[in-house]
Amino acid sequence: MRQKLVAGNWKMHGSLQSNRILLGRVRDELDGWQGAEVSVCVPAPYLAQAQSMLSGSSIAWGAQNVSKHASGAYTGEVSASMLLDFDCRHVLIGHSERRALYGESDHAAAAKFAAAVAAGLVPVLCVGETLHEREAGVTEAVIARQIDAVLDKAGIAAFGRAVVAYEPVWAIGTGRTATPEQAQAVHAFIRNRLRERDALVAENQVILYGGSVKATNAAELFSQPDIDGGLVGGASLVAEEFIAICRAARP
Ligand code: PEP
Repeated sequence: MRQKLVAGNWKMHGSLQSNRILLGRVRDELDGWQGAEVSVCVPAPYLAQAQSMLSGSSIAWGAQNVSKHASGAYTGEVSASMLLDFDCRHVLIGHSERRALYGESDHAAAAKFAAAVAAGLVPVLCVGETLHEREAGVTEAVIARQIDAVLDKAGIAAFGRAVVAYEPVWAIGTGRTATPEQAQAVHAFIRNRLRERDALVAENQVILYGGSVKATNAAELFSQPDIDGGLVGGASLVAEEFIAICRAARP
């Protein structure tokens, strides 16, 4: 049985003051919640705050990006070992905003994924098609290309220590959610793609859906057979909304 996971992606939002309230609410309401693992991926400067407020609770935390390098002259970069210094569990890899706004290629995402796994972090590999690609009928080809780049670099065994998030780009921050059927179809495709390499890894693979998940649509999405929880952007910044989404995830 796969453990469900709901991970928040705060993107570049927050302040010490607002985080204190948000993390406090999330901790008070969700510490010990058995339905799903809960995690928050916060901006790097707030990792110390997440660590100090969530240590000892059942809620995990993580980062939104990591360098493929271990250390060196890479100004502005943050390494996997630095994230581990703050007890991060998760790190987002290849989020569509990083791909679109910072030119992160499949190849770059694969290198970061491999660095994260090698260090002992759990990468959350984000994949997804644009609206143009969906309308052109190439959704599966795009997802296959994004997954295969990581498989080729890191190998199927690395997926056993990772999470995949299907995030259709047209659904991120737009209020337009994929229907449960649309999402399920792509999730099944991803699982089958992994099954071609290793049936057991594929069966145990946690695959999240992301893209305008809200309290009102979470339960239906999470009840699909191949949807193992959610990666939540905007709604993870609103305590009551995020808490309700986490409560919608149950085995
Ligand atoms: C995201 O940032 O990963 C995301 C899914 O955003 P939103 O929930 O706001 O669509």
